[in-house]
Amino acid sequence: MATLPKKAEEFIDWYLAVVEAAGLSDKRYPVKGMNVWTPYGFRARRNLDRVMIREIEATGAEAVEFPTLIPETEFAKEKEHIKGFDAQVYWVTRGGSSPLDVNLVLRPTSETAMYPIFALWVRSHQDLPLNVYQIVNTFRYETKTTRPFVRVREIHFFEEHTCQVDEAAATGRVASNLAAFGRMATAFGLPFVAVRRPEWDKFAGAYYSIALDIPLGGARTLQIGSVHHYRENFARPYGIRYEASDGTTRYVHQTTFGLSERLLGAILAVHGDDRGAVFPTAIAPFEVVVVPIPAARAGDRPQQVAAEIARRLTAAGRRVHLDDGPERPGAKYYRWEVRGVPLRLEIGAREAEAGEAAAVDRLGQRAVLPLATLEAAVDRTLEAFDRALAERAAASFRSAFSLASDLADLAASTTVRQVGWCGAEACGHRIETAIDGALLGVPEGTPPVDGGSPAACIACGTTDGLRWALAGRPL
Ligand SMILES: [Zn+2]
Repeated sequence: MATLPKKAEEFIDWYLAVVEAAGLSDKRYPVKGMNVWTPYGFRARRNLDRVMIREIEATGAEAVEFPTLIPETEFAKEKEHIKGFDAQVYWVTRGGSSPLDVNLVLRPTSETAMYPIFALWVRSHQDLPLNVYQIVNTFRYETKTTRPFVRVREIHFFEEHTCQVDEAAATGRVASNLAAFGRMATAFGLPFVAVRRPEWDKFAGAYYSIALDIPLGGARTLQIGSVHHYRENFARPYGIRYEASDGTTRYVHQTTFGLSERLLGAILAVHGDDRGAVFPTAIAPFEVVVVPIPAARAGDRPQQVAAEIARRLTAAGRRVHLDDGPERPGAKYYRWEVRGVPLRLEIGAREAEAGEAAAVDRLGQRAVLPLATLEAAVDRTLEAFDRALAERAAASFRSAFSLASDLADLAASTTVRQVGWCGAEACGHRIETAIDGALLGVPEGTPPVDGGSPAACIACGTTDGLRWALAGRPL
């Protein structure tokens, strides 16, 4: 049983060790940045997808699936987009031993796969809005250090693409996406901030980009998703037009919403602790592990009761693992603690006799649950666990931001910083240099630190056009 590095002291090493110890991913596959989803990791991924699907379909989106390969001719149609992705794409240039007539791109994202087809699907205002999504693998030739779930070259990607009648309707879709993400984040107990990225850091081809960022301790941040408004930027080169009710022909306004397994990485990073992974119930591969404790005087009674408990909870819709192997109970407790299971039920001779289960949640809360009403007791216990986990994350989120009022103060940042900014790009770059990171952008809605109104731009001192902005060091 190797001890894990301390989260507060060696965050990256801790993260890598937790992914490894929890058995979520096998990094030995011989292509860098392309990892194997293990059975345990795949369970988490399926639960993640289930929440994403539930929340996006509640907003009227429908699932589709487009091909993985995109012809170079389509990929090159939107100039900013190709410029933004050119260095990151994998190419397919041969079929067997023959060179292809048109080279193919392994999709890094699917705008250029979908939009030629959207141009065929959208004819009249009655075809709008078109709200579709897919969950597929995308490929990006990452040059930075790859890390499981957080920076990979084969990405498990959720992407929604929409066509709307006009700019206002597209703005409405952006708001609806942010609300849907808010509900996903609530399910995972994950506090986040939605930030409008500065012009120089928006998605290639977008009118504007809103990123979903989480603080990771210190000034570190992780972008876990994004929502983009494209206006007509893609509709024009791809010819996505419709006949309006007044008979005129107009271009659609488009939006996209992207998420990936980074969300799983974020959940591990935020909730995990020095003893390993901690999964909120909604994503936990197993919600409950049942461990019988053999005792000579009890015969096989503990095993029988444990098996019955596992059967009942499974029938009630819980994801349950019965760990009735030959190892000592202590080794089993350790394993399921590192792997982040929310609730462990222990059945020894005493519990079997009394009709009870000894319950220990992953935050260390203990309780005795009566077997007669076990299903309801487990529901309540897991709800309380999720609440406590979300509160712990919310408390560390609140202390993850602080105000800064002069540039010299930024270098030694031990939190993400909230600064007054005039909006000028030159000032943005001075802030980035000072913090040795990025100007994340302007928070949507209430900024994380309640600082009233900013007094001056932290870089140039002007009091004109001021807004709060966040600066940090993206992972
Ligand atoms: Zn300024």
